[in-house]
Amino acid sequence: MQMYSQADVDTSCLSDRQVTILGYGSQGRAHALNLKDSGFNVVVGLRPGGASWAAAEADGLTVKTPNDAVKGATIVAFLTPDMVQKSLYLSVIDDIDVGAALLFAHGFAVHFKQVEPRKDLDTVLIAPKGPGGLVRRQYEEGHGVPCLVAVHQDSSGNALQLALAYSAGIGGARAGVIETTFAEETETDLFGEQAVLCGGTTELIVAGFETLVEAGYQPEVAYYEVMHELKLIVDLLHEGGLRKMHKFISDTAAWGDLISGPRVVNQTSRDAMKAVLTDIQDGTFARNWIAESEAGMPQFKSKMNADLEHPIEKVGADLRSRMDWLQE
Ligand code: NAD
Ligand code: MG
Repeated sequence: MQMYSQADVDTSCLSDRQVTILGYGSQGRAHALNLKDSGFNVVVGLRPGGASWAAAEADGLTVKTPNDAVKGATIVAFLTPDMVQKSLYLSVIDDIDVGAALLFAHGFAVHFKQVEPRKDLDTVLIAPKGPGGLVRRQYEEGHGVPCLVAVHQDSSGNALQLALAYSAGIGGARAGVIETTFAEETETDLFGEQAVLCGGTTELIVAGFETLVEAGYQPEVAYYEVMHELKLIVDLLHEGGLRKMHKFISDTAAWGDLISGPRVVNQTSRDAMKAVLTDIQDGTFARNWIAESEAGMPQFKSKMNADLEHPIEKVGADLRSRMDWLQE
């Protein structure tokens, strides 16, 4: 494993150079503000009239249309939704300087060949291991969110140093930057969010809630058990792994964990995880997601509505409104 820290980075390759950020959402805002505060020359590229334009200007940034913003840039960072990157790349490519660098925060578009970078362009990945809000907050507090770095195309011979300089600018090098490949970052990121972080965790919560409610227990009590209290456990895992969690929960909870956890997440669940990973690796997931996006996201919308109309959402909203400390 290769990990870079602040001492390995020479940011002089970016001084007096323009860094262009396309998109001003979760990652875009955090990267743009952190880079500006690190002393870099930042330009944000957005669609005229979009909601983000006023927000970026109010934050003190220079905002231009994507085509104007990429002109003269040493690095062009694509921080729009993954499904938009192909059309955006095609619309700005003729305005990107020869010998510039393309930067991504997730490898999807490049790994699945949505974007096939022009041969003269360095193409790199700096993927923060956290949402944009955290990337900004940690930077402001003098820390950083760890990042992954990868090089897809090294046309200049300096692509890795350029990527590391960018990672230092957003604060990532303070926490460490681990070298990976576009394939590894893309496939593990998709697997993590599908099988464990987002898909796996929410299905586990909803299934636990339904099991208790169907057995006749009160929905409010079920909600506290399977959703509300999850935060305590996640915080312990985040701070100190399995060891810290086991130290803080009761012996009864630990014994129940050890004997019942493997009954719920069992060989069938592991086989399903493997099938999810195979779909990611062989491109099936990407192909289906791109087709869904091009069709106007009909399934995305109906499945999302079903999720948001689940009874756990109604119970949860009522109970959360009584915990005023959650609104802060
Ligand atoms: P987002 O949805 O929060 O923001 C999207 C931004 O792109 C918005 O400002 C929007 O106005 C702009 N945009 C949309 N269409 C556009 C277009 N056609 N032209 C110009 N701008 C357009 O996106 P995000 O979640 O920050 O994701 C950006 C990238 O970062 C993605 O590649 C994502 O995979 C990656 N990433 C996200 C996270 C995260 O926590 N959100 C973490 C790591 C990596
Ligand atoms: Mg779900």
